[in-house]
Amino acid sequence: MNTLQQEINNARLHKNLITFSYAPSEIKGNGKRYSMSSNFTLEELGCHCSRCSSAERVHFIFHYRLLEVLQLLRNHLGFPVYPNSGYRCIVHPYTIKNPLSNHHKGLAVDISLNGWTILKLIKAVLFLGSLGIENIGIDLKKEFMHIALSSEYGNNRIGVYDYHNSITLKNIKGLL
Ligand SMILES: [Zn+2]
Ligand SMILES: [Zn+2]
Repeated sequence: MNTLQQEINNARLHKNLITFSYAPSEIKGNGKRYSMSSNFTLEELGCHCSRCSSAERVHFIFHYRLLEVLQLLRNHLGFPVYPNSGYRCIVHPYTIKNPLSNHHKGLAVDISLNGWTILKLIKAVLFLGSLGIENIGIDLKKEFMHIALSSEYGNNRIGVYDYHNSITLKNIKGLL
């Protein structure tokens, strides 16, 4: 086993925040080799900003529970789940826009909803709810779901919300 994978495995043993650093050149082109869990790789969950693709060494922060939730969701759904964005470093444009972002704290991940049916979406949301995940943002236009371990703003963000207000409890029946 190579050193980086060993380091990832050691970081995972802490069962709290998984944190380590790596050289982007190390994972470029072969990032899929570095497993964070059975189905998710460092390439998928690491910061994708321009600095992090060219810096000498970058940091990775991700909460162990979030990784667990992601893997359990994938197992429950039984089909591939593709993360769009996981950890975002301090110079990631979205972190600059929102320094309180849970992505920066390793507490949030966005997964692609591309090709999903509404029933798959509901199945996923119900399952996440059963795991105690209450911060879920659904963007049907950009086709992604934000899954977070805690609220970014401390309140009023608990529950399933939609960035464009296209889903409400009143009209969700119409989608079915
Ligand atoms: Zn970055
Ligand atoms: Zn997000």
